[in-house]
Amino acid sequence: MALKISRRTINDRLRRKVMEISGENVQQCFQCGTCSGSCPMNEQTSLLPRQVMIMLQYGQAEALDHANTPWICASCHSCMVRCPRGLDIPKVMEALRLIKLRQNVNHVELSSLEPEKIDDLPQIAMVSGFRKMTS
Ligand code: SF4
Ligand code: SF4
Repeated sequence: MALKISRRTINDRLRRKVMEISGENVQQCFQCGTCSGSCPMNEQTSLLPRQVMIMLQYGQAEALDHANTPWICASCHSCMVRCPRGLDIPKVMEALRLIKLRQNVNHVELSSLEPEKIDDLPQIAMVSGFRKMTS
């Protein structure tokens, strides 16, 4: 996916908030792409992990707001163990989820699911789909 980074849409508050919550310095990412190559979910996500990092660096909050990546991320840590900068990318994804959850926004709204579907879905998958590591 081609990234659109615009000076007009820069909002640096999100980057600062993510760094505060995750404790990770996203500025250290130098865009090697190892995380994206390691990610088992990279065909399902709208932004690759590397792209999430650069969008944070450039304060592209609106694009990140629409990205499904933090919700699809399985918190498998493959990216983290291979990142040459030692960045804990799952923590960054968790911070992005947490910011949305604090606004009372879920990726999937339970109330929008059909009752039959809720009966069929494994509860553990639903919990991980909504909150993952977020406490
Ligand atoms: S592996 Fe680390 S340094 Fe490389 S793109 Fe991903 S986050 Fe950035
Ligand atoms: S922790 Fe998330 S972003 Fe990192 S490799 Fe696993 S699924 Fe991909």
